[in-house]
Amino acid sequence: RFYIDTIKRDAHLNAWLSVYEEEALSLASQLDDSRKPGEPLAPLHGVVIGLKDVILYKDHPVSAASAILKDYTAIYDATATLRLKEAGAIIIGRQNCDEFAMGSTNEHSAYGAVKNPIDTTRVPGGSSGGSAVAVQADHCMISLGSDTGGSVRQPADFCGIIGLKPSYGRISRYGLIAYASSFDQIGIFAKNIEDIALTLQIIAGDDAFDSTVSPEPVPDYTTELQNTLTAPQRIAYFKEALDHPGLDPAIKASTEAFIKKLTEQGYIVEPIDFELLEYVVPTYYILTTAEASSNLSRFDGVRFGHRSKLHFEDLNALYKASRSEGFGKEVQRRIMLGSFVLSAGYFDAYFTKAQQVRAMLHTQTAAIFQQYSAIISPTVPSPAFKIGEMQNDQVAMFLADIYTVFANLVGIPAISVPLFQHPNGMPFGLQIMTSQFDEVSLLRLSKQFM
Ligand code: GLN
Repeated sequence: RFYIDTIKRDAHLNAWLSVYEEEALSLASQLDDSRKPGEPLAPLHGVVIGLKDVILYKDHPVSAASAILKDYTAIYDATATLRLKEAGAIIIGRQNCDEFAMGSTNEHSAYGAVKNPIDTTRVPGGSSGGSAVAVQADHCMISLGSDTGGSVRQPADFCGIIGLKPSYGRISRYGLIAYASSFDQIGIFAKNIEDIALTLQIIAGDDAFDSTVSPEPVPDYTTELQNTLTAPQRIAYFKEALDHPGLDPAIKASTEAFIKKLTEQGYIVEPIDFELLEYVVPTYYILTTAEASSNLSRFDGVRFGHRSKLHFEDLNALYKASRSEGFGKEVQRRIMLGSFVLSAGYFDAYFTKAQQVRAMLHTQTAAIFQQYSAIISPTVPSPAFKIGEMQNDQVAMFLADIYTVFANLVGIPAISVPLFQHPNGMPFGLQIMTSQFDEVSLLRLSKQFM
């Protein structure tokens, strides 16, 4: 009842697309009734959770915040959703986001922009903006979002909460509406590391419905969190990241001061060269738009999605009209860009080259983690944008992803922890990254830093 009332109080933030009020309340009372004295509760007994509108919850609406999937109902549960339900969680509703998870501001939703609760003239970040707002403003205890290039970490940074993107392959993508399949990963928002650890433990791990999920056993993250790290930790940061001309001076200063503090505490923190930094954003946008153009071809008004009511002479005309009516501008732009980089004349110049850069990034990352246990950086080069500020400058919006896309390009886990405050009053975070499947060190370091 508390969470439902808070959601209603904050309706102006536009964080939710559906709230399952009756159902959540009745599940809550069933859970109360099912308690037996002396018997342990399920790990998430009564924990109130919201889902970004790209994660399927059987018999409930899901639209990827797009008009093309308006009125669509999920016919099965995402693996993550099913595991939450089995652990006793209450799914309270679905959260607004950028259409098909494409964006950094949550302004590209067919259902209107989401506002940042800390300053409602600012964006909450994106694409999982509604999910970050929901946790920040106590609409639920935990949210699940998706992170293809920063969509969990960046809104966590803008809203002053924790956002984790696990390793690629840690959590099943079954039932997650695809944006770019080799980048997408379900992520977790919470206000403390213990909640992140527990949720991850429940939803991670092998799944017969997703061949890209790792069979690697899931550690007991909650127990592992109790053990502190031994030996001085060697941490790297990219020189080019802190010297970047687009980095806000106050964010640079706080990050540098934090590095100094870590050194004083006995951590070994060293700058390393990372000349590929300027290539990560172009590589990311070439590969993700290519994958998106293919993934989104199923929304054609026949197999899935809105069908235009116009009269058609042929099938192609029906596809064109349905997709033009159903997809928003940002999604159309990315489908066109992705189709272009995959087209016969340009494939080698763009797509193949971007794949080569991705391979180089993999090699360099492996070498870094032979010497260091973690890499740190700011999460985003600026604090939360003003609403409207980025709308006419797509390139500036893309460039703001400079620190987050790297982790998705190489599949490593990354987290944003809210450590700082900007002179303008907005919070911002520190990003920590560890090697693939080393979520244990990532969570421990986060806890130590907070
Ligand atoms: N801002 C990035 C993009 O627009 C990240 C999106 C995401 O992680 N889903 O592609």
